[in-house]
Amino acid sequence: MTDPNKSLWTATARPAESDETSHETLHGTHRTDVVIIGAGFTGLTAALKLAEGGAKAIVLDSVEPGFGASGRNGGQVIPGLKYDPDQVDQMFGEASTDFIGRAADTVFELIDKYRIDCSPVRQGWIQPTIKQAHLPTLKRRLLQWQNRGCNAEWLDADRMQKLTGSPCFVGGWIDYRAGSLHPLNFVQGLARAATDAGVTISSQSEATSLQRNGDNWIVKTAAGAEIIASQAVIATNGYSGSLLPKLRATIVPANSFQIASEPLSESQLNEILPTRAVVSDTRRLANYFRISPDNRLMLGGRGTFSEPASLKDYGKMMADRRMLFPQFPDLKVDYAWSGRIAMNREHLPHIHQPMPGLTMALGFNGRGVAMGCSIGGAIGEHLLDSRVRLPLPFSEMKPLPLHAWHPFYATLAIWYYRLRDQLEN
Ligand SMILES: Cc1cc2nc3c(=O)[nH]c(=O)nc-3n(C[C@H](O)[C@H](O)[C@H](O)COP(=O)(O)OP(=O)(O)OC[C@H]3O[C@@H](n4cnc5c(N)ncnc54)[C@H](O)[C@@H]3O)c2cc1C
Repeated sequence: MTDPNKSLWTATARPAESDETSHETLHGTHRTDVVIIGAGFTGLTAALKLAEGGAKAIVLDSVEPGFGASGRNGGQVIPGLKYDPDQVDQMFGEASTDFIGRAADTVFELIDKYRIDCSPVRQGWIQPTIKQAHLPTLKRRLLQWQNRGCNAEWLDADRMQKLTGSPCFVGGWIDYRAGSLHPLNFVQGLARAATDAGVTISSQSEATSLQRNGDNWIVKTAAGAEIIASQAVIATNGYSGSLLPKLRATIVPANSFQIASEPLSESQLNEILPTRAVVSDTRRLANYFRISPDNRLMLGGRGTFSEPASLKDYGKMMADRRMLFPQFPDLKVDYAWSGRIAMNREHLPHIHQPMPGLTMALGFNGRGVAMGCSIGGAIGEHLLDSRVRLPLPFSEMKPLPLHAWHPFYATLAIWYYRLRDQLEN
């Protein structure tokens, strides 16, 4: 077993080329149009759009681009939210459903446009279920997307087993808009594209204060820099810290754990996900899995609130993998790692604009590869031209009650969800 804090993505990241910038840490005072805090998918796609529209942008990250969930995730590019399209129509209108349905296209277009070397594969996302009780919901979801022209189809238990390699599922659907990528290479490719477009990215630059001064925002960093900007964007998602305690209290930063096996043999690769679709199931505490670009079976799911310290802490993921693939009980784990997702009560991304010139987007609830990139880009467009409507309305920042106790009550919630998952047929 390798270092539990070293992800497969870090181990297989594309080496930087000699002409690439190193995102040096800023010192001193700098003026810009927009300062963006957080260099993940959301912050970088906003910066890229702004720079292409002629605005100056500085992106700050406490560590470096991709340090957060954007460089650690499962790399599943899934359009859509937890809600079905008819529900989204009712909540926000058809334009929002359309935007959400195009979210995977947005990612693959970015990859093509900026020639990002990140192993993209577009073979669909399978949402299977092990619960008979969930089949009607999945059939309804499929129908609603098909009614909107989406390329998707139903998979019965036999086809499901052929396409996933798992004997556990009783049926489900496949959405061919979706796919996968190497997330760290993708986020670093976005950072490179943003830098090429004129964005300044500053690593090791934790924003420690954000203040309004006349028409400007002033951000100070732990490295001693001061950034003066007319607009500020906060894109810190599950890594939101003490900068804005009220914002941090709107989400629960939940850990998602992942394991990657040793490379699979030819016959295993023909049996597990032979078409290279990606999967996440319908349980409240779902598993997600895929084949990595270097032919490993990767599987993830909800982890504990404490940070994992050794391979033992990934015991639940290994048990889940044995349950889903009983024919391969002894696959070795070569990599295990975790990252933080931002959960909220509504299971919806939130866009806040509590004061003029201050925009925040977070709460991707584990679906931020496509949605983070799409919403980040939309924020960039909106800041360039306020007539451009955002895909979701601004929502009020509502701190969760007893937020400081979240590790306690969220752990209780996990036990409760696990019990409900077990009791359901
Ligand atoms: C293990 C795991 C698996 C996942 N799998 C999938 C998946 O397969 N598909 C999917 O759609 N989604 C998945 N997600 C969710 C997805 O990765 C996130 O929703 C998405 O990356 C969020 O992007 P972001 O840019 O908003 O935030 P992040 O990528 O988390 O970036 C936030 C950044 O803010 C920085 N930051 C925080 N505070 C400050 C500060 N004060 N000053 C400066 N910088 C600061 C952090 O260093 C961090 O780099 C997964 C998440 C995890 C953790």
